[in-house]
Amino acid sequence: MKKKKVVLTFPPSSVEDPIIYHLISDHGLKVNILRAAIDPGKLGRMVVELTGEESRLSGGTAYLERQGIGIEPLAGEIRHLEDQCTSCTACVPVCPTGALDVNRETWMVSYDADRCVVCLSCVDVCPYRAIVSHF
Ligand code: SF4
Ligand code: SF4
Repeated sequence: MKKKKVVLTFPPSSVEDPIIYHLISDHGLKVNILRAAIDPGKLGRMVVELTGEESRLSGGTAYLERQGIGIEPLAGEIRHLEDQCTSCTACVPVCPTGALDVNRETWMVSYDADRCVVCLSCVDVCPYRAIVSHF
């Protein structure tokens, strides 16, 4: 089993289509919706974690592309601006997954996109605007 976190972008004509249903029932994928911004008639965005065998992930991805759904890796959805970060650690306790962590030797704060679930808690607490998101 492989896991893949991606950002899906739905054109306005597709936001009401049962895309997630087809990923589950037709392609045998587990779909964990981490965040969604969907409004009828507008461009929609969704962060999902897809789980399945490699062949099923490929099939599901091809299906999404055929539907005109944009697929981008999650990395980049949340950006940790290291040059603006002071490693004040305010974001570390609010991060539910440990994606933001502090090195106990250097006291530098780092960000791990693989662990991020795009909850955006860190964006609100950062006093230096060192974390940005497209959501
Ligand atoms: S709250 Fe902002 S400045 Fe402080 S450690 Fe986190 S990202 Fe860096
Ligand atoms: S968005 Fe949430 S999970 Fe991701 S780094 Fe920020 S607090 Fe952690």
